[in-house]
Order: sequence, then C-alpha cells, then structure tokens
Amino acid sequence: MTTFPTRPGRDPGRPAPHRPDEPLRCSSCARAATNPVERAELATDWLVTTDTGPQRRRFCRDCVPAGPITDLTCIRCGDGPLLVGDLAHEHDGDTTDITGDLPGTTRGWLTGAGWQLTGPICPDCIHELRRR
Ligand SMILES: [Zn+2]
Ligand SMILES: [Zn+2]
Repeated sequence: MTTFPTRPGRDPGRPAPHRPDEPLRCSSCARAATNPVERAELATDWLVTTDTGPQRRRFCRDCVPAGPITDLTCIRCGDGPLLVGDLAHEHDGDTTDITGDLPGTTRGWLTGAGWQLTGPICPDCIHELRRR
C-alpha cells in the first residue's frame, strides 16, 4: 500500500469540494452516471449509518439501501437527504418542526451540517437568507 503525503493546508477530514466536471459515482459499486436519469439518481444525497456515525452517500438504482427511508426536504428549495434505516423518522403530522421526530443521531448530524430543524431549512438556504 502506498501512502501519499498529505498536502498542507487541506484538512483531510473534510470532503473534497465537488467539481462539476467530475462524474457522479455510486458510493457502493462506483458506477458513474451515464445518462440524465442516472445522474438525477446519483445526485440524491443519502444519509446512512456507518461505524463512524451518519455519513452522506450516493447510490445508483441497484444499490439503493433497503429499509425504512424518509425524505427530508428543505421548505425553501425542496432539497435534502434521504434518511435510511435507523436514521429515518416518523412524521407525526407536523412537518414544520421535525426536531421531535428525528432520532438523536440524525439530529446531531443535521445540526452539525448546518441544518435548521424548524422549517426545516438546509445549510445553503440558511446561508442565502443570512446574506440578505
Ligand atoms: Zn451502485
Ligand atoms: Zn434549501
């Protein structure tokens, strides 16, 4: 195994910034999107449980995880990750404040990623709202 020297100035814990020219790939089988339908499928963020806690993943149609899946959507842009398995939550009818519906691990990840749970509002929208 070859170890590459870590370049100074880059925090290895942070994901590399997404480059638009980089093909979207499935986190499971590494298949790249080859048509607009697959691109749309792979553009979806999934939040799955891993040994190190919730992680963001992308899945092609064949690798979509089984189990309960709930859709978290920002009230402003309609974007948001799909929550899988233990991270999924039950809607109690009130979708404007999801704080009480979410398992603690999901809540911790979302607030850490910058989500506002009342709304809910995604980090991008919060950023835009603050700029006004
Ligand atoms: Zn796949
Ligand atoms: Zn948003």
